Amino acid sequence: MEFSSKLIEKAVNEISQLPGIGKRSALRLALHLLKQPKEQTRFLAEALLSMRADIKYCDNCHNISDSTTCEICANTNRNHQIVCVVEDIRDVMAIENTGQFRGVYHVLGGKISPIDGVGPSQLKISTLVEKVKTGTVSEVIFALSSTMEGDTTNFYIFKQIADCDIVVSTIARGIAVGDELEYADEVTLGRSILHRVPFDKAFKNN
Ligand SMILES: [Zn+2]
Repeated sequence: MEFSSKLIEKAVNEISQLPGIGKRSALRLALHLLKQPKEQTRFLAEALLSMRADIKYCDNCHNISDSTTCEICANTNRNHQIVCVVEDIRDVMAIENTGQFRGVYHVLGGKISPIDGVGPSQLKISTLVEKVKTGTVSEVIFALSSTMEGDTTNFYIFKQIADCDIVVSTIARGIAVGDELEYADEVTLGRSILHRVPFDKAFKNN
């Protein structure tokens, strides 16, 4: 793509680094910003900069947060003994949107995936196991997507906490195999949390 302006070219190059945005879309967005009042671009730039500079991760559940204890972990009305294990903040948001879960979360930050070079040590697994072993947890619910990576991760964690005196369950699979949680509709996802099944039984049925 030939540009008549180095300034536009630079902006387009940066915008097109974002996933799903090609050069043409990036150019469209850049031209859109030029048509808007200057403040709008400043607000956008400032929002991105402060997000990057000030975002934190919850010390307890590792969810993305504005402070070192996220709002969910700080909420005393939630059941802190029930811990739902998810991949990332999008799953937390999807489950929160169902309004069906009053426990807390543990955000792994990904799934075990040898192909992508992601091993257990790169995920927040040890802090989950520690949490369970301190005896403050009564139930762990696996809510990873039912892909091979999700199942591998569930089973890896299960092996480490299987001898603890807690309930280990998995969300009921109303969700088709391979679907990502964030795309499941709220009703289906809400139902699958309410009708969760013991993990060892779900595993044997596979
Ligand atoms: Zn938290």
